[in-house]
Amino acid sequence: MNFISKNNVVAAAVCSACLFSLTQTQAGEPDPKYGIHDRSRPVPVQVDPGYPGTQDKTGKAPQGAVVLFDGTNLDQWVAMDGKKTKWIVKDGAMECVPGSGYIRTKDSFGDCQLHVEWAAPAKVEGDDQGRGNSGVFLGGDRYEVQVLDTYNNKTYADGFASAIYGQYPPMVNPIHKPGEWNTYDIIYIAPRFDGDKLVSKAHISVIFNGVVVQWDRELTGPTGHHERPAYAPHDVRQPIAFQDHGNPVRFRNVWIRELNQ
Ligand code: MG
Repeated sequence: MNFISKNNVVAAAVCSACLFSLTQTQAGEPDPKYGIHDRSRPVPVQVDPGYPGTQDKTGKAPQGAVVLFDGTNLDQWVAMDGKKTKWIVKDGAMECVPGSGYIRTKDSFGDCQLHVEWAAPAKVEGDDQGRGNSGVFLGGDRYEVQVLDTYNNKTYADGFASAIYGQYPPMVNPIHKPGEWNTYDIIYIAPRFDGDKLVSKAHISVIFNGVVVQWDRELTGPTGHHERPAYAPHDVRQPIAFQDHGNPVRFRNVWIRELNQ
């Protein structure tokens, strides 16, 4: 218990700083072209940061983000085969219609911060992995950050909400009640390949309702059910996908910022 409560405090403290530091660490060292506190160095562009959603009100994307869903339409989305999706828009949310299949973005994205707000059905049905199951997939349909109603729901650790499915359980489970909105901020660094050769693995961090629950996890390869497949080469830029796992999970305020921009 000591570990968990201490972890919570640390997570809250680093939360606001970690997005900034992540992008800074990609280069490995400060740019040698500039001395320390060099006033000729280009300064960060000021942007409207938007605001996160609350239980009563959806959030607003920061300036410069690509808005993937603003509560009104599914223009940015298609079924996995590129045809029109059967998911619906209802009360400002996009909702999985069970049996309709996964949904993916029309556009592709590389290293990114992906913001997603989601809610499991208010009416609790099923248990274990059958309760409010969906998923946020990076790299097309390869790397799943689990979406699951794990509010007082018993299941395996690496299948909890915000788990990197089958690989890494979250550090803690800061989930809201069924029917309430949860927020994921996912930082994804795509794997790199040189031809058929894996050069660097995928890395994922997740902030779940403001708490860091996954920190720079190095994925073994694509996520799977009872399997950990090896990496297979793919382009850096891939669609984002949400899973149809047979439950009417809702999503809102979905936006993405590619990193290193
Ligand atoms: Mg899932």
